[in-house]
Amino acid sequence: AYRKGGYHAVRIGDPFSGGRYIAQRKLGWGQFSTVWLAYDTLTSTYVALKIQKSAQQFAQAALHEIEFLSAAADGDLDKTKCVVRLIDHFKHSGPNGQHLCMVLEFLGDSLLRLIRYNQYKGLKLNKVREICRCILTGLDYLHRELGMIHSDLKPENILLCSTIDPAKDPVRSGLTPLLEKPEGNANGGASTMNLIEKKLKRRAKRAVAKISERRVSMVTGEEASSKTEKSLDGIDMRCKVVDFGNACWADKQFAEEIQTRQYRAPEVILKSGYSFSVDMWSFGCTAFELVTGDMLFAPKDGNGYGEDEDHLALMMELLGKMPRKVCVFFCFPTVFSWFIVCFLICLFEQIAIGGAKSKDYFDRHGDLKRIRRLKYWPLDRLLIDKYKLPEAEAKEFAEFLTPILEFAPEKRPTAQQCLDHPWMNVTTQNDAENVDDQMNNLHIKG
Ligand code: ATP
Ligand code: MG
Ligand code: MG
Repeated sequence: AYRKGGYHAVRIGDPFSGGRYIAQRKLGWGQFSTVWLAYDTLTSTYVALKIQKSAQQFAQAALHEIEFLSAAADGDLDKTKCVVRLIDHFKHSGPNGQHLCMVLEFLGDSLLRLIRYNQYKGLKLNKVREICRCILTGLDYLHRELGMIHSDLKPENILLCSTIDPAKDPVRSGLTPLLEKPEGNANGGASTMNLIEKKLKRRAKRAVAKISERRVSMVTGEEASSKTEKSLDGIDMRCKVVDFGNACWADKQFAEEIQTRQYRAPEVILKSGYSFSVDMWSFGCTAFELVTGDMLFAPKDGNGYGEDEDHLALMMELLGKMPRKVCVFFCFPTVFSWFIVCFLICLFEQIAIGGAKSKDYFDRHGDLKRIRRLKYWPLDRLLIDKYKLPEAEAKEFAEFLTPILEFAPEKRPTAQQCLDHPWMNVTTQNDAENVDDQMNNLHIKG
């Protein structure tokens, strides 16, 4: 992938944007980009530098992402909306071509890493609640104030706010800003340069090791085995929504198939059109995963049926049969009288026409054509029987989650309504003891 049109190879200490940003270490990567921790010499802060592959289609995608990130930043002047902030963007020329680069505020680990760190056992409900509050604050902002659909919400795309600010506390975080490479003198310059470069690299590596240890005190999954769940206590669970590469406007959509498979809403599978409520579906899946450590739906294709169909079956096993208005597709009969009958039924029973794909998967009774035997296991029972949640807690959480997982998109609550839900506003003893957390809640509410 490090070839013409592909990723830009970065070495620690590399300067960007005329020397303003100095690369420190790799934070992550995606299909289109690599993301680096960089030091911003102008503001003396650490930032995340997302460097896009250079080929035309990737540049196009980066411009798209910049459009949405800019819109999100413009409406969030007091930085309370739980959405990652775009600080700057520029072009960078390298051996593989010209790369669009985005400078983002530096955040911590993703929720996926948090789940992994916790050995897929699920988080305590008060932690989940804190995280949900941030996600919902972000979604409410995107939906209600901007008219934007994120379209790829999932644990990987929600990052914890880093608890250490390397800029304010460079000694503790162990990171020393790497300045530009010193010039070598004319005679014997090359070898001096090599030495200095090696020294710089070693220094950077040490710094990286230190910050890794301290950042949110949890960084890799490998470390997890030696730690216990206890070490999550007292960690501030604020987080922000990232990755606007697939975002769209509610009234200007770009793709029919959106979202990562496991977090994909039924109306997207059935191709019956979508809106903000697809993000709410993904939010529901994410909340379940935080509580249990397991994905809510992990569909696989099988003998005689595809992934889509398995996905629908899993949904129906948990949530019951799909209402006819979601799954039944009316092929308008040629006979005129039948047409009238169908039309009247649609009118009076308010049966919306199902998606373009509905007739591929469902018969006219609303049963799946190829997966016949479904085992109904409702959410509250699943939480109690499989995940051993105490009965009262399970019931409360299921009450919160079930409406979010409504098949009919227009019945799902909005992010704002979820924020007002009693489950979101329980104060446990633990919360009350934790002054820090309360301060953060106030901060987010304000
Ligand atoms: P692509 O579009 O290239 O396929 P992607 O859209 O998944 O990739 P992002 O989700 O924006 O790209 O970033 C990839 C990874 O980089 C994230 O999962 C995270 O580990 C890291 N990352 C992204 N943004 C930040 C940030 N602001 N602070 C810290 N790490 C980040
Ligand atoms: Mg991503
Ligand atoms: Mg993306």
